[in-house]
Order: sequence, then C-alpha cells, then structure tokens
Amino acid sequence: MAHWQSDLDQGIDYMFKIVLIGDSGVGKSQLLARFARNEFNSKSKATIGVEFQTKTVLMDHKVVRAQIWDTAGQERYQAVTTAYYRGAIGALLVYDITKHDTFDHVERWLEELRMHSDKNILVMLVGNKCDLGSLRAVPVEEAKELAQRQGLFFMETSALDSTNVEPAFLGLLSQIYVSIRKEPL
Ligand code: GDP
Repeated sequence: MAHWQSDLDQGIDYMFKIVLIGDSGVGKSQLLARFARNEFNSKSKATIGVEFQTKTVLMDHKVVRAQIWDTAGQERYQAVTTAYYRGAIGALLVYDITKHDTFDHVERWLEELRMHSDKNILVMLVGNKCDLGSLRAVPVEEAKELAQRQGLFFMETSALDSTNVEPAFLGLLSQIYVSIRKEPL
C-alpha cells in the first residue's frame, strides 16, 4: 500500500527516462528549461555539460521522477547515440510550427527512435513556438493527422510564453504511468 513520503529524494516510486528529439533549433532546450526550472533563455546556461534534468511530480499519490534528456546539440552532427535512447520510456518529438521542414523530418525521427528503443515507446508530438502564430507554416490539422496515423499524442506549445509546456510533459508522464500500471507485476 502506498504511504506518504515527506522527502521526495528518499521515496521515489518510479523513475521515467524521457528523451527530447527533433531538429536543431526547434526549442528542445528551452522547453526543458521551462518545464524543469521555469526559465527561458536564461543566462545561467545551467544546461551546458548536463545531459539530463530531473523533475519530480506526484501522480496518484506516487512519487514519479522524470529524468529528461536533451540532445545538447548532438543532432546537428547526426550523432544522437544509441546510449541516448537506451532505457527511454517516452519521448517528446519536437518541431517548429514556423518551419515546415522540421515537421517533414518528424517521421524520420520517429523511425530512429523506434529503431533504438522499445518500439512501443510513448511519444508526444510537440509543435513548438505557437506564440509565433503569424509565421505559422504547419497547420494544426496536418500535425493532428500525422499524430493519429502514427499513434502519437499531440500538443502545440510555446517555451517562450509557457503555453502547454506543463501539459505536454505531464500528459506524457501520466500516459506512461497509466501504461505501466496496466502491466502485470
Ligand atoms: P534546440 O536546438 O531544439 O534545443 O532549440 P533551442 O531550445 O536552443 O531554441 C532555438 C531557438 O528558438 C532559440 O533562439 C530560442 O530562444 C528559440 N525558441 C525556443 N522556443 C521558443 C518558443 O516557444 N517561441 C519562440 N518565439 N522562440 C523559441
């Protein structure tokens, strides 16, 4: 039976590894900074040299620690390694709603993800920079159609003004939680 843990560091019930993928410049690092530290374009550059950030959330009275990995620019050199994907149970696949080519590459990212991780990995497709609506190049319907066809969750976000950042991360985490609870012990 679950019991209350007063010290989150001492009592983690679940640890979920999540990876951020998508083209360079779509806003992966800023989404993570916004979710993990509520920062945007921080001068502290706290992410340099750090491979992942953690965020602890309560779900259904369970302490869930998300370990969220950022590519730290590796994708620029097409060098996202197998180790990056290893053990990942969920992914945020990010494109930029103002750059259609970043959306065109989504299925390639998905293929790579499914090749290197559990093929049932849960994926949240994220159309970022929705604050730049006047520059929109990817219609919402086009993204929804892809998400439905590929079995992905979908949300548009803005790391700049915080729109949907928590719902995107927490939505993915809760779907993972639900899927894990369904598995036999
Ligand atoms: P990454 O290469 O995918 O990690 O992308 P970054 O997080 O480094 O962001 C690339 C650029 O996009 C930076 O100049 C950010 O300030 C900008 N950016 C990131 N997210 C947003 C957003 O939601 N809205 C706007 N307008 N700019 C963003």
